[in-house]
Amino acid sequence: MKQTRRQEQRFTGHPVSPGIGIGPLHEAAEPELVVATKKLDPAEIAPELARLDDAVARSRHQLQKLKNRLAALPEDSQAEIAPLMDVYLHMLGPSRLLRGIKARVQEALLCAEAAVQAETEAQAEAIMAQTGQERAGRLRRADEVRELGRRLLRNLTRQPFRSFAGLAQGSILAASDLRPSDAALIQPARFAGIVTEEGGVEGHTAVMLRALGLPAVLGAEGVLDAVAPGTMTIIDGDTGEIVLSPSKASLEAARRKLSAQTRARRALAKLQRLPAMTKDGTAVELQANLELPFELAMIAESGAHGIGLLRSEFMFMNRDTAPDEDTQTRIYQDIVEAMDGDPVTIRVLDWGSDKEVEALSRYLPETPEANPALGLRGIRLLLRHPALLETQLAAILRAGAHGPVRILLPMVSVAAEVQATREILQRVWRRLKRRKTIALPESLPPLGIMVETPAAALASPVLAQHADFFSIGTNDLTMYTLAADRSLPADVKLYDPLEPAVLRLIHLTASFAAGAGIPVSLCGELAARPHVAPLLLGLGIRQLSMHGNAVPRVKRAIRATSLSLCERLAGDALAAPSAEAVRAILASAEP
Ligand code: PEP
Ligand code: MG
Repeated sequence: MKQTRRQEQRFTGHPVSPGIGIGPLHEAAEPELVVATKKLDPAEIAPELARLDDAVARSRHQLQKLKNRLAALPEDSQAEIAPLMDVYLHMLGPSRLLRGIKARVQEALLCAEAAVQAETEAQAEAIMAQTGQERAGRLRRADEVRELGRRLLRNLTRQPFRSFAGLAQGSILAASDLRPSDAALIQPARFAGIVTEEGGVEGHTAVMLRALGLPAVLGAEGVLDAVAPGTMTIIDGDTGEIVLSPSKASLEAARRKLSAQTRARRALAKLQRLPAMTKDGTAVELQANLELPFELAMIAESGAHGIGLLRSEFMFMNRDTAPDEDTQTRIYQDIVEAMDGDPVTIRVLDWGSDKEVEALSRYLPETPEANPALGLRGIRLLLRHPALLETQLAAILRAGAHGPVRILLPMVSVAAEVQATREILQRVWRRLKRRKTIALPESLPPLGIMVETPAAALASPVLAQHADFFSIGTNDLTMYTLAADRSLPADVKLYDPLEPAVLRLIHLTASFAAGAGIPVSLCGELAARPHVAPLLLGLGIRQLSMHGNAVPRVKRAIRATSLSLCERLAGDALAAPSAEAVRAILASAEP
């Protein structure tokens, strides 16, 4: 950053996250990375490889932690960023990159730092030299390799990463470039907005910033050179405009825009007290998904009636051993009490496949599965480790003495899994009853299942005889129905929950649940899209669970529609030839 200029100066960048930010601009610079290199003696090879292994382990741990932090973001943002973290984690496994680095230590006698620098640069250049893929894609992959190299170097040299801790509350945070892993560390309440010199609308960082709800303008070239620390700045995340040292008139105009936005947000907040009901009187229940307990405050303000999906995975993260029954009970009890009589649906640990839980890794099969997504995960894995399941069920039952709870099983594909779990649940119930001092609910809480495999949807008439409720998980249901992973490159366009095949399974499940008289809700990412809500109502869904942030907008969409319109939409969508056609149908129905 250079000298102060009093004159108003304007810059433009990419508007990536809407809203006005006004505040002093401060740069969060990345500390320079100083790397000393040297040639090794052959005797130094083994200790050098051990040092490298240590840096790899640290890097893995940091990335895993960042990935866990993502759980607090809306699901569409998680879907965007988590695969990136997986790419990094994969490169830190038995990858070509690590083999290359080790070979340079062993054969060229390079110290670990020099080997990392040489190998990451060589691989990044090889990627850029490839033909047959668009330049933007190659650039992104080369950047990923270089970024991982920088992380390894910081861990090898124990030099600090970028920190936002010292920046004043209410600042506009400026950086030459902001990586997604940096963005994951930002606490949105501390900043008025974000400006960078590099980066674009489609990048992972942009998605993160949108999810955090922070006004942001990226790719504003030259802005850092034009400004002294603390310069008053306005950023407009809708237009991409940046005003440094604004004139009185510019500042007033920005403040007016900011208050208009605040009023619009308040109007949305007022919806909190209004019912989620269509114009022709069909009531819909809106609930929240909870990934981390700190989201409770936001859920309380959202107008959600209860928690439709508590992903219990967070309790098992960032620790060396699984939490015991008392610890789990306390955590569930706090949440149940905070919900003050609204139901809390606790999903037992959904682990395995891409959902890694370090504390439980010793329970996983020794040889990696060829197709982890089709292997042991969710209830399949828990039933093979009943002690873990029993502890969790006992804790849920005990929390149930403090407010209504429901138990939800992930990844069910056959009725036997529900039967086996129910037997365990009854056994745990009897055991707890014998411990006379323990408070329990009056009766066993409802036991429900995630409908997230095509088998569960197709077998829903049978499963409805065993489960007390259904919760449709469209994230996995889409993946398993279309045999398409979320992390497929965007241009492949196979993973799409609006594909009519997926919609048919939702419709089928809702119809059979209604026939059997059991409640059905939908808790995948699809539930959080306001313009899709009428379609879901038309398919027979009357209960939706979503990230708390999304509740007001979904409620507004429900209040603006009528069931007759929803049913017409659903009829058209079910007969549509493609997700594209479904989108066109939804667009034509927008008010
Ligand atoms: C789903 O699959 O839709 C779901 C809600 O579960 P998760 O995203 O936790 O796998
Ligand atoms: Mg799922």
